Amino acid sequence: MIKRSTGLYEQFSRKGGDALRATHYCAGCGHGIILKLIGEAMADLGIQDDSVFVGPVGCATFCYYYFDCGHVSAPHGRASAVATGLSRVLPDNPIIAYQGDGDLGAIGFNNAFQAANRGDNFALFFVNNSIFAMTGGQMAPTTLEGQVTTTTPFGRDTVKAGYPLKVCEVFETLEAPVFIERVSVADTKRIMLAKKAIRKALQIQKEKKGFAFVEILSPCPNNMREEPVKAAELFTETMEKTYPLGNFRDRSEKPVPTPKGVPLKNEKELIGGGKETVATKNDPSFKERRFKFSGFGGQGILSLGLVVAEAAASDGKFVSWMPSYGPEQRGGSASCSVRVGGKEIGSPTIDDPDVLVAMNQPALERFASSVREGGTILYDSSIKTNIGFPAGVRAIPFPASSIAIENGVSKASNTAFLGAMTGLGLLPFGETNIKAALAESMSARPSLVEPNMRVFETAMKWITDNLRP
Ligand code: SF4
Repeated sequence: MIKRSTGLYEQFSRKGGDALRATHYCAGCGHGIILKLIGEAMADLGIQDDSVFVGPVGCATFCYYYFDCGHVSAPHGRASAVATGLSRVLPDNPIIAYQGDGDLGAIGFNNAFQAANRGDNFALFFVNNSIFAMTGGQMAPTTLEGQVTTTTPFGRDTVKAGYPLKVCEVFETLEAPVFIERVSVADTKRIMLAKKAIRKALQIQKEKKGFAFVEILSPCPNNMREEPVKAAELFTETMEKTYPLGNFRDRSEKPVPTPKGVPLKNEKELIGGGKETVATKNDPSFKERRFKFSGFGGQGILSLGLVVAEAAASDGKFVSWMPSYGPEQRGGSASCSVRVGGKEIGSPTIDDPDVLVAMNQPALERFASSVREGGTILYDSSIKTNIGFPAGVRAIPFPASSIAIENGVSKASNTAFLGAMTGLGLLPFGETNIKAALAESMSARPSLVEPNMRVFETAMKWITDNLRP
């Protein structure tokens, strides 16, 4: 009996009216066949409810209209990187990535290559039609020698454009992949072999045995300017000379490989040269705090963030520290984001800080509007600005640079801000932790500890004298 696989939706909602069952692919395109084979295999293996499919950019970008399973759309070339992430946060779910040869072979090759080299636990289907199809038939890394494309009108010249990229052969040099095979969907006999390889890759994923890679040669009649049957014949004739079909590796029957590795250093050896480290404590009731420190490179912005991060870590908090700076070592804009939480932190980026420290005018003007309601902006009082501050945000001009100069360490404005934040109670951990982290940050130049402590105390006192009742 011929019936629709339950791995695919009954109707494809992108196409309305009479075309509700039609895909967006051109007649004779291999993509439709491949998606059908994957949908059938998912359903037959009973994995579709748990599977997450990572869609690419390219002709298959709309594949979420067809599969009845979880879906994430990746940016161009990044399906393997997204699948790597998913395979780590969802270690028990089958993860399936799908990429074309422009997407994987050009833009995202390094992501796919590194995932294969790590043996990341997902199935990767690589559709090779030897061109960038959706964007108009430009040369891809997989384009054959002498092949005419819109960007190689006289044929691919290997002197200028290099040789066709043989991804299976490249991946075969790596230790980690469990399964590597190249198949084709150009005719019925080849489709049957492709079906077997696709099922095998998904079976490996069902058993979470590691990285499985299937390259599928798939004709693109549209860019070949041929009718479908002729295109498939021509495609087979030319492609398989460069890309021979066959299995390159199948280690699926062997025990799940465990990385051999080398003896690792213990935590004491790695962190702080023998210093005791504090274990993080899960505390879901702790409200996450977000800090943005900003100014010029050379003002100690990143160090300020590090001291706050170290102090938080020494108090058992979860913490992330993420710097951002221009190409200049000195004078360019610099900022860093610090999150402090009571549970594992999902992303280190911060769009809406609770606390903004701005050490110069451009930083103040750039980030002030991002501070969330109820938040605090601390900026150097030498900054002259006419900008309005967001409603519900406390903006405090603070004489950080004057305090640093008065104490004989003109470069310690960052320490003055640290003292101000401590005095205002903006740092959710003890003063002892903060001072210890500050001293530790200067362990390479101990002579700076004492003057910086003076700056810290002066800043705390300024807050008490001027802002506290
Ligand atoms: S352009 Fe080529 S690859 Fe894209 S849908 Fe049409 S036939 Fe398929």
